[in-house]
Amino acid sequence: SLILSFETSCDETSVAVIKDGTEILTNIVATQIKSHQRFGGVVPEVASRHHIEQITICINKALESAHVTYADLTGVAITYGPGLVGSLLVGITAAKVVAWAHHLPLIPVNHIVGHIYATNFEHPIEFPALALVVSGGHTELVWMPQEGEFKIIGETRDDAAGETYDKIGRVMGINYPAGPTVDKLAHEGQDTFDFPRAMMKDDNFDFSFSGLKSAFINTVHHADQVGETLDHANLATSFQNAVTDVLVAKAMRALDKYPAKEFILAGGVAANRGLREKLDQELSKRDIEFVKAPLKLCGDNAAMIGAAAEMLQRHGAKADMSLNADPGLEFEWEANEAQ
Ligand code: ATP
Ligand code: MG
Ligand code: FE
Repeated sequence: SLILSFETSCDETSVAVIKDGTEILTNIVATQIKSHQRFGGVVPEVASRHHIEQITICINKALESAHVTYADLTGVAITYGPGLVGSLLVGITAAKVVAWAHHLPLIPVNHIVGHIYATNFEHPIEFPALALVVSGGHTELVWMPQEGEFKIIGETRDDAAGETYDKIGRVMGINYPAGPTVDKLAHEGQDTFDFPRAMMKDDNFDFSFSGLKSAFINTVHHADQVGETLDHANLATSFQNAVTDVLVAKAMRALDKYPAKEFILAGGVAANRGLREKLDQELSKRDIEFVKAPLKLCGDNAAMIGAAAEMLQRHGAKADMSLNADPGLEFEWEANEAQ
């Protein structure tokens, strides 16, 4: 199969051409980060306007660089949620136009299933699998007993991990998205601040990061008031240790109860070096395969959507011209739909 896939759920306009769900012929990603930086985060109206400007350019670039024509395609895949409604609609409309004009099946994809399937380019997922999805808007543990089934067994009760990185980075004067810079700083400092690790010992698989965020911001503000300068590298190291300690502890607790063959790390924060290292260390003690999303495919991209679409199509997923954006799309729906 040869799928043209679209991703426009947030601030990346992306179009890819994916062969058999495992081979990337091309993966064009136009990021809008520069336009949102001065606002310190993604502005929905600005995002959708950029998608409109970029989408046709990305489609043409993708077909050209993959050396394929519309006639070679076997399907069109599109992220229809979760995400920003105005952004999602641009990709959905473009995907519908291509599918309609070229008589191709339209395959609806859940953005989070997409993040998980970024690992499909490493090797096909083996079930049962447990995925830790850490991104700008989500932090969840997803149990996948078999292909096409997704069950959230734990999730954040407030802020997502990526969002927390972006917010604490902001008080240190780091541009949006702050994750990569904080990660880099964290490798240059020492763990000197005693930040909270919420719910780490609780008997569930949920997370909470708002207390850590507040503790961090209070520490910085307090220092500002008394005219003290804090070492940013030490702040970053202490913060990153707190985040990754909780993520790893909860993932290990989940594995005790859900005996997975494979553990998957996906989402924008999956690029985090500290998190990858800590999981490598802990998972090497267990009889389990650890598959990380490739660094280039941790953030939003259409390649992962094409990989997920291949699997979803096998399970009967299809949409018609009535497909709408679903900003709060959840998993269970997708799993039922896929059966
Ligand atoms: P969602 O996928 O939940 O809808 P999103 O698509 O906006 O949200 P992603 O693009 O998957 O999120 O991830 C972006 C997030 O990842 C940002 O918050 C960014 O700061 C964070 N991030 C990227 N690289 C790193 C890193 N090395 N360490 C920590 N965080 C990172
Ligand atoms: Mg993004
Ligand atoms: Fe994402």
